[in-house]
Amino acid sequence: MDLSRFPRRRYTLGATPLEFLPNFTKALSPHGGGPNIWIKRDDMLGLSPGGNKTRKLEFLVADALAQGADTLITCGAPQSNHCRITLAAAVKEGLKCRFVIEERVAGSFSETASGNHFMFRLLGVEALTVVPAGSNMAAAMQTVADELAAQGRKGYVIPGGGSNALGGLGYVACAQELQQQFFEQGVQIDRVVVGSGSSGTHGGLVAGFVGNNIHIPIVGIGVSRDPADQEPLVYKEAQAVFDLLGLKMTVPREAVLSVGGYWQPKYSVPNAKMVEAVQMLARTEAILLDPVYTGKIMAGLIGLRRQDFFKAGENVLFLHTGGLPSLHAYEREVLGQIEVAS
Ligand SMILES: *Cc1c(COP(=O)(O)O)cnc(C)c1O
Repeated sequence: MDLSRFPRRRYTLGATPLEFLPNFTKALSPHGGGPNIWIKRDDMLGLSPGGNKTRKLEFLVADALAQGADTLITCGAPQSNHCRITLAAAVKEGLKCRFVIEERVAGSFSETASGNHFMFRLLGVEALTVVPAGSNMAAAMQTVADELAAQGRKGYVIPGGGSNALGGLGYVACAQELQQQFFEQGVQIDRVVVGSGSSGTHGGLVAGFVGNNIHIPIVGIGVSRDPADQEPLVYKEAQAVFDLLGLKMTVPREAVLSVGGYWQPKYSVPNAKMVEAVQMLARTEAILLDPVYTGKIMAGLIGLRRQDFFKAGENVLFLHTGGLPSLHAYEREVLGQIEVAS
């Protein structure tokens, strides 16, 4: 798959590490018979603290610059990593940045919140509009773009999570980076576990694996939807990536697999399995997960191990997609000092 004809800005020096997790592997299967767990450190991407949105924005921001935009407009939840990383990219490029924040959990937006919200203010977001859950986000962002146009400015609208076909190219690039690392490090990975939300990461990775003949199954852990709702989104994203690349290929439906049950009671609301996962990785490998995404995604990996989903001795790669700042917005929950849902 040739990505070189798409303009790209680079926000990370080199590849993110691919590492074995010996202590976590042992803690997961104290009596043996379990999988070996590896990690791809996409929490170490640029636009610090970076994450999966960094890869998508390399292509999206390059497109915004090519179109002569002076302002990035995007949307997300009150603790959105995507909004914060988009703002960081804007700062680096000398662009302005505006958000539409969807208050998905009523009353959850606070002007004085820490975590990502604190960083919105520190990095200097130009304006931020808060709308209620279920609002038409595309329309709300278009309103912002129209306001800018009336002032002679030019906004570039980036969809939630940066998940359109162009953003998905970031995870095709990640698939190619992984293929090179498997080769150079002599690692045979048998399965990949990835988070599945707005679907650019999961869908882009599926497109990158299928398109590059990487025959490793991917399992997505839903962070806001169960499979009946999530898999069609991921499938659509993967196919949109193929179409953008001009590949006359269809994504096989069976390449898209997701698992539900770990995100409840609600997107972004803590649960006990997340707390266990965050504590376990911190205390075995000193790697920090976040409560909204990667904690629930790792809880999914732990749950699949306990259901004997993985074969003994197989090499399972966990894709760490970042999210560190929101850990600070849920410190007491993660320490077990505030009760969370079961
Ligand atoms: C956005 C996000 C995800 C989900 O990725 P999508 O591409 O939206 O599916 C996972 N982890 C973290 C830390 C994120 O910020």
